[in-house]
Amino acid sequence: MDCIPATRSRSRSNRRRLATAFDSSAPTSGASKSSVETVEHLLAALTALGIDNVIVELNTPEVPIMDGSAAPFVYLIMNEAGVKRLAAPKRFLKVLRPISLSHGDKRIALYPSDHFKVTYSINFDHPLIRHQSRTMKITEETFVEDIAPARTFGFLKEVEMLRQRGLALGGSLDNAIVLGETSVLNNALRFEDEFVRHKILDVIGDLSLVGYPVIGHLVAHRGGHALHTAFAARILEEVDAWKIVEGDANASVAGMPVPASIKASARLAN
Ligand SMILES: [Zn+2]
Repeated sequence: MDCIPATRSRSRSNRRRLATAFDSSAPTSGASKSSVETVEHLLAALTALGIDNVIVELNTPEVPIMDGSAAPFVYLIMNEAGVKRLAAPKRFLKVLRPISLSHGDKRIALYPSDHFKVTYSINFDHPLIRHQSRTMKITEETFVEDIAPARTFGFLKEVEMLRQRGLALGGSLDNAIVLGETSVLNNALRFEDEFVRHKILDVIGDLSLVGYPVIGHLVAHRGGHALHTAFAARILEEVDAWKIVEGDANASVAGMPVPASIKASARLAN
């Protein structure tokens, strides 16, 4: 079981509005008296890096969007806060039989597997996206290198509509990929299929709402936060479809040894 003592971030709320506006169903975590928004990228980083215990201090009711990806949170966890290994055994939710949920043509399911693996596919009527699909075994290493840097995305026409309604006025182009009719308006893509990689990032964060790292194969098609979070609730309802198992305290989410490169870069907290 791993923990980090604290993560501190300055609020840059004006920089998150654009990306959040793209995703009107971004998840909220917490009780009714207090809630925290846009938690999914931070939760994805914590889950994928095997962090079970953490104190996150915020001076705003929303997690800063940063650059629209989870890479800044990975940096903070590994290089600023540090990771401490605890003696207690790590617990996982191991899938025993398939669980599925669909809303129209949006589908999500979880199947038994020896590892945490995600298959995601998306379809958008845009020349830079079209159909994208990726299957990835999620380890600390694959998450850090292939998923965490993938940024959230949206379309210029949506931004223009929001601005006409007086929304997203404080947004800037450095916290999301903004797609025009045929091209990316701001920075170059970090991956050719950055869009589907970001979907994988989102679902890892949303799935963490079940409370345990999952051992199973998640398959999603055209999902979004609403479907992801509804599915997390469905998993918890279907109590005969999984069991809680204990794993090696020195193992990562996927049950694999922690990569040496991550061990070396993570400062141990005392
Ligand atoms: Zn996202």
